[in-house]
Amino acid sequence: MVLAQLGGSISRALQQMSNATIIDEKVLNECLNEITRALLQSDVQFKLVRDMSTNIKKIVNLDDLAAGHNKRRIIQKAVFDELCKILDPGKPSFTPKKGKPSVVMFVGLQGSGKTTTSTKYAFYHQKKGWKPALVCADTFRAGAFDQLKQNATKAKIPFYGSYTESDPVKIAVDGVETFKKENCDLIIVDTSGRHKQEAALFEEMRQVSEATKPDLVIFVMDSSIGQAAFDQAQAFRQSVAVGAVIITKMDGHAKGGGALSAVAATKSPIIFIGTGEHMDEFETFDVKPFVSRLLG
Ligand code: GDP
Repeated sequence: MVLAQLGGSISRALQQMSNATIIDEKVLNECLNEITRALLQSDVQFKLVRDMSTNIKKIVNLDDLAAGHNKRRIIQKAVFDELCKILDPGKPSFTPKKGKPSVVMFVGLQGSGKTTTSTKYAFYHQKKGWKPALVCADTFRAGAFDQLKQNATKAKIPFYGSYTESDPVKIAVDGVETFKKENCDLIIVDTSGRHKQEAALFEEMRQVSEATKPDLVIFVMDSSIGQAAFDQAQAFRQSVAVGAVIITKMDGHAKGGGALSAVAATKSPIIFIGTGEHMDEFETFDVKPFVSRLLG
C-alpha cells in the first residue's frame, strides 16, 4: 500500500466510524482494526502498530467521555498524534552550521540511493550558500567513485576519491583532511554498502566513523524496503551513531510504512526525502504537514 492509499484507508476508517449513530467500544474497535490493517499493509512494524492502537484506546477512553463530546474529533486527533509520535523521536538531529566545518557520514545498504542522496544533500546546501565537498569512501562497489565523480562534477561540487587505494578508512580520513584545509564547511563522506546486512559492512562503518569522527551519521533507506526496515535500521544504529534518516524513492510505488519503522528503530528523525533520480528531487521533511497530508 503506498502512502497516499494508507492515508485514504485511515481517513475512510475514521469516516465510517463517524457515520455510526453511537460510537461505542465496538465501533471504535472496528475503526482501530481497519487502521491497524492499513498500517500493517504499508509495512509498519507490527509492534508499533499494536502499541499505537493500545495508546489510542487509552487516550480516547470512551467510558470517561461525557455526552456531547465530539468523539470523532477526539479519536481523529488521537490517531494524528500517535502517527506524529512514531515519526518524531523527540529530539532534533544535529544541524550543521554554515561556515563551521562539519563532517557528515552517509550509511545504508547498496542500492538504497546513498550516493545519489549524498550528492543531493551537498547540492541542496550549496544552493543555500554552503561550501560542501564529497568524499567517496566506497571501495567495495566497482564504479562507485565514477558515479560520485560524475554527480559531483555536474553539480560543481569538489570531490575526493581514489581508483587505487583500497582502504576506505584511509580515503575517508585523507578526504576529510583535504577539505578541512580547503575550508569546506560541509564534508560529506559516502561509504560502502552491501546487498545485505553483514558483519564486514558494519565493521567498516565503525572504523570509518571512528577515524573521521562525523558530527552526523545519516542512514539512507529505500522506502520500498518493507517489513525489513526496522531490523535493517536497528542493525546500522548498533554499529554507528545514526543521528538522522533520509528515505529515498518516495516517488515510486513503495509502501511507505518502512519510514515509520526506521524512525522507531534509530530513534532519529527523518530530515529529507528523495522523490526522484534528479539532483533537485529532494525535499525537507516535517512530521506534522506530512501526517496531515497523509490523513487528507
Ligand atoms: P547506492 O548503492 O546506495 O549508492 O545507490 P545509488 O545512489 O547508486 O542509487 C541506486 C538507484 O536508485 C539509482 O538508479 C538512483 O538513480 C536511484 N535513486 C536514488 N534515489 C532515488 C529517488 O529518490 N527516487 C528514485 N526514483 N530513484 C532514486
